[in-house]
Amino acid sequence: MDKQKLSFQAEVKQILHLVTHSLYSNKEIFLRELVSNASDACDKLRFEALDNAALYEDAPNLEVRVSYDEAAKTITIRDNGIGMSAEEAVSHLGTIAKSGTRDFLAQLEGERKKDANLIGQFGVGFYSGFIVADRITVETRRAGARPEEGVRWSSEGSGDFEVETITRAERGTDVILHLREGEEEFLSLWKLKSIIGKYSDHISLPILMRKQHWDEEKKEQVLTDEWETVNKAAALWTRPKSEVTDAQYQEFYKQISYDSDAPLAYTHNRVEGRTEYTQLLYVPAKAPFDLWNRDKRGGVKLYVKRVFIMDDAEALMPVYLRFVKGVIDSADLPLNVSRELLQESRDVKAIREGSTKRVLSMLEDVAENQKDKYAEFWTQFGAVLKEGMGEDHANQERLAKLLRFASTTADAGVSFVDYAGRMKEGQEAIYYITADTLAGAKSSPQLEIFRKKGIEVLLLTDRVDEWMLSHLYEFDGKPLQSVAKGGVDLGKLQDEAEKKQAEEAAEAFKPIVERLKTALKDRAKDVRVTTRLVDSPACIVVDEGDMSSHLARLLKQAGQGAPKGMPILEVNPAHALVKRLEAAPEGDARFDDLAQIVFDQALLAEGGQLDDPAAYVQRVNRLLTA
Ligand code: ADP
Ligand code: MG
Repeated sequence: MDKQKLSFQAEVKQILHLVTHSLYSNKEIFLRELVSNASDACDKLRFEALDNAALYEDAPNLEVRVSYDEAAKTITIRDNGIGMSAEEAVSHLGTIAKSGTRDFLAQLEGERKKDANLIGQFGVGFYSGFIVADRITVETRRAGARPEEGVRWSSEGSGDFEVETITRAERGTDVILHLREGEEEFLSLWKLKSIIGKYSDHISLPILMRKQHWDEEKKEQVLTDEWETVNKAAALWTRPKSEVTDAQYQEFYKQISYDSDAPLAYTHNRVEGRTEYTQLLYVPAKAPFDLWNRDKRGGVKLYVKRVFIMDDAEALMPVYLRFVKGVIDSADLPLNVSRELLQESRDVKAIREGSTKRVLSMLEDVAENQKDKYAEFWTQFGAVLKEGMGEDHANQERLAKLLRFASTTADAGVSFVDYAGRMKEGQEAIYYITADTLAGAKSSPQLEIFRKKGIEVLLLTDRVDEWMLSHLYEFDGKPLQSVAKGGVDLGKLQDEAEKKQAEEAAEAFKPIVERLKTALKDRAKDVRVTTRLVDSPACIVVDEGDMSSHLARLLKQAGQGAPKGMPILEVNPAHALVKRLEAAPEGDARFDDLAQIVFDQALLAEGGQLDDPAAYVQRVNRLLTA
């Protein structure tokens, strides 16, 4: 074929224009793209050779060679992969067949107006060579073709390109970049090596460069004819599990996490099916200082076919697993995938679901087989995992089993399963109380009747607990019931005699309750007799559907307005202090003092604050000195 001049497809011109005009700030990515193409070409050869081993000719070792020529001002990326026929060169390098291209173009147009720097994060393909080159020559021969069937493709990256037939002995492709004026910085072994290290270290093929040596006469470094591999050439996660040692997994974790502690656990899998990917995921042993920053991006790196795409690809993990570190390598995503496209991709959704399940399995395994380790994990990350109760309804049941609490039986480590196993005959609900501190929770008056009857109550003291409870209503068919909400109904746990006794006490105390209601009309929406209390005179509860006092306090601390609902005061008629109310005749000022004191104390006992502490002190003093 004689030399032919052909015109680029319109979209290619558009891409060329955008790429060369908006990528100055991130020029070095051209090498990532070209090395990635070289690696793809080798993958394709490997695949075609499955049916036709003759395609390997006499060069079965697939590799990429990167070299430069200072005098000619060129960089050459050579591979011995599949190569291109003349038709392929024309269509692959002159038109765009990629499905995502239109989206990509729209994105690029949009982003350019916003922030040109962002574009560098996207894959931009072969044409990115024109960021640094004012002419690109491609010399190629397809595997299996005769040497006279080689092709030279050449373009200045504006409107058109040329193709002609050449004779080329070697199979595969040379991409030769003729550098633009001012781009000489790339004519450096060190520079090229460092870019390869940054983006292409995990390419599973060897990337070779010429060794340098010090020339005494010239007094400078000169390139030798000896080549050496400059990348690790085999990404850890691409190797079969059986070939990777525990020490190697640990070492890799350190590299990607900058964590000096060993990880708590890791999982490594190749997932096949509708979407194909490899995941190597780690749970750290210690929480990072910024664990609570929900805006912080995740710790999972995204690779596409072993090419590094981006750090902290948050779309790959739910927010409540933001502490997970690792690598996900997809076989399906396009190299030019952006964060925005990730959010919408169905493949990514499948990867996120699959990876979430893997992490949960890993945690279940630790919880089951290494209880001490799990306890440590729980102290570090438990509160974050609780966020999952609202965030990940699909996995809520599995997550609920991973939760650990303090209870009136043990200070830590109580699971719902443990609790359910200890439930009393006739007990229908899982009881809990929320409070600011464990000590506060433990001394809540509301627990008294449960203690007396030997019923376990979970003590919830994490800030996130109230939020979690707004998403979690039951475990294994057993409703979660606050001991500080609604009337206490122990159901079958109370015998008939007890119920009758309680009813009689309430009846007898009715007149006092009425007087209390009047005295406390501005503070309590109701006053009633309770069976909840054993040793305390009174306690504060809220209606079933109302916000707990604890949550109202948290919101107030966070500077958010909480609804100003009034609580209910429950009194214990058997208590000496409450009995003194009976002794105060109608109209006696002491009755009012006592009523206010009983209310204030109930408020204090559950960790609340008094609106007027001085008035409380005066009342107590009047009573003490009376
Ligand atoms: P992508 O790699 O996403 O397909 P590129 O713009 O990087 O897009 O490359 C366009 C096409 O050119 C590739 O799909 C491939 O068919 C062809 N190509 C590029 N570089 C090579 C190479 N070194 N060897 C063989 N074919 C190549
Ligand atoms: Mg490419």
